[in-house]
Order: sequence, then C-alpha cells, then structure tokens
Amino acid sequence: MSGAPLLAEIAAIIRETGPIGIDRYMALCLGHPVHGYYRTRDPLGRAGDFTTAPEISQMFGELIGLWIASVWMAMGRPERAILAELGPGRGTLMADALRALRSAAPDAAFALHLVETSPALRARQEEALAGFSPTWHEGPQTLPDGPAIVVANEFFDCLPVRQFERTPRGWCERLVGLSEDGTLTIGLAPEPDRSLAKEGPVGVVTTLAGPAADTMRGLAGRIRAQGGGLLAIDYGHARPGFGDTLQAVAGHAFTDPLAAPGEADLTVHVDFAALARAARAGGAVVHGPVDQRDFLLALGLTLRAERLKRAATPVQSEAVDAAVARLTDTGRGGMGRLFKVLAAAAPGLGPLPGF
Ligand code: SAH
Repeated sequence: MSGAPLLAEIAAIIRETGPIGIDRYMALCLGHPVHGYYRTRDPLGRAGDFTTAPEISQMFGELIGLWIASVWMAMGRPERAILAELGPGRGTLMADALRALRSAAPDAAFALHLVETSPALRARQEEALAGFSPTWHEGPQTLPDGPAIVVANEFFDCLPVRQFERTPRGWCERLVGLSEDGTLTIGLAPEPDRSLAKEGPVGVVTTLAGPAADTMRGLAGRIRAQGGGLLAIDYGHARPGFGDTLQAVAGHAFTDPLAAPGEADLTVHVDFAALARAARAGGAVVHGPVDQRDFLLALGLTLRAERLKRAATPVQSEAVDAAVARLTDTGRGGMGRLFKVLAAAAPGLGPLPGF
C-alpha cells in the first residue's frame, strides 16, 4: 500500500506515546527525513499533485521582480542586498523575477539565498537558478545579516499548526490517534487546554499556527533592525474565523489527510490576521493583506499580458488570457480572492507597490 512506511511509523509512535498533535502529524507527513512528502519528490506541475501561480504563468514571477525592484529603490539602492526566497519550489518564481529585475533595476546586485528543506526541489532550483550562485538554508534563522528582501509564495501554508475544538469542557486539542482497525483517526484530548483564552460556540475548530507566527516575527525583527521587506502570498483568510482548513491534495484532487501520510500535500489556510500580528510584534510595518487579484492588477498584470500577446500566436494568446483568469478570478477555482498578499516592511520604507 502506498504511504505504508510512514503510516507504520506514525502508528508505532502513537502506540508508544499516545495520540499526536496535528502539528506533529503535519511535520512528519511533510518533513520526515526519509518518507516526508517534500523530501521525496517534486510535487509541482501537471504531472505532480498541485500547481502554483509561478508555474501557471511567467507573468507572476515577473511582477514580483518589479515589486522587488521598487522595494530595493525604496531601501536606497543598497549595494549588495540579500534576496531570499522561502520554499522556492522549482525556482520558477525567482528565475522569472530575476529576469524582470534585470530590466527594471539593471544596477541592482543581490546575494541570492534560498530556504528549502527538500533535496529534490533544491536540485530543481539549482538548475533554474544556476547563473545566480544561490546559497541554501534549512531555515530562515541562518540567513546572513544585512538589508533583505524576502519572498514567500505558498510557504506559510506548509508550516505545522495545532487545532482545538470547542467542547462544553473548553478547547480540546484535536489529535491523530489509531482506530481499532489500524487506520488513523482524529479524536480530542480528554482535558481542555486552559491556555486558549478565546470564546467560540461548541463544535467549532480553531487553528494555532505557532511556527508560521514565529517565522514571521523573527523575519520582521531582522527587517526592522536591518532594513528591507517581506512579501508573503498564500491562500487563506484576512479575518480570523473558525473551521478546519487542514487539507490534503494528491493528483490535483482533495484526499483524506489521514489516508496516506507522506503521499499527499498537507496544508492549512493561512490566518493572515495572525501573520500580521506576528509581523507587527517583530516591529515591522504591515501592508495588506490584499486579494491576489488586486495586487497583481496594481502591479500591471494587464499591461504585461498585452505585451506578451503582441508577440504570441493565437494559441499562446489564449494561454495568456487563461493564465490571467486563473490568477485573478474571484470565483471558485480562481486564485484572485482565495489568495492573499501581505508585506512586512521596515519602518519608513514608505508605500509599497501593490498595496
Ligand atoms: N513557492 C513555490 C513552491 C510552493 S510549495 C511555488 O510557488 O511554486 C512549498 C515549498 O516550501 C516547497 O519548495 C517545499 O519544499 C518548501 N517547504 C515546505 N516546508 C518547508 C520548511 N519547513 N522549510 C523550508 N522549506 C519548506
């Protein structure tokens, strides 16, 4: 059975120490050194499990390149700033961004740093960005000092979260346990967690994204002290709300998050209100969140599409239109409203494009 090695290992952990938190489950499924989802494969693209904005169209990365150019100018054109990406996937976004950056800010020189845990994806990034001699990091903590521009597309949604369900007794943590037939099942911790202060009706689920908030707070702190800005793009909600958004995707379709650990991508909707709080707690100025649609249109998506279409065949032209629609549509299936964009900037950087 696919996913069996990790399932057996998780079952053994649960038998030995009891049910595990959703955070531990996510960390094992995505990051287990041997069987973790991101450790073992390149999940992106048509043949993979899901696709992302930079894989849909070069326009996405190019517009982010223009954003980087503006921020670099607002920073006072530092001589060799750090350009960092968190979870760069195939390196497509950064390759497109650097190409656009070269014409928008020809005198900008960056030291390129990539935060990536997946060996399979590091190899793809090395191919895509060979000319830029990137340095890889396991986490953002080891990024070198200095003014920095940081980009993260669909990164914060991979970081582990804890979930709690409201019961008449209080907030009880949702835990992954074993049912009698040996399959994984979600249950509740018997005792409520008294540290959660918020109110909510019985039956609702709330999510605590500790690692995402810690990562944001840490990066905001360095940006406040050393200058620069961070751009986070992800699917999520601008207002805090209740609901279980843990989801698994394999082969471009939703699957049961417990069915085949390590074989499906496992993510949660990003709580942008919590990310914004963490950025402010780190001392950064927060811009947004805004809908991806508004961000891309403000950066000039329409003009970019027209320019591409001028040199295109009718078939290519249709593909450009389809990509614009996919990136900006606000209905179901579109990314325009589901995806939000937030920036955390050094105080005094001024208004940022797209917000
Ligand atoms: N930004 C890319 C890829 C998104 S998929 C795109 O838009 O196409 C998520 C990315 O984050 C992958 O590169 C994955 O390997 C990486 N990743 C997931 N968890 C991570 C972690 N804890 N630390 C560093 N990178 C991580």
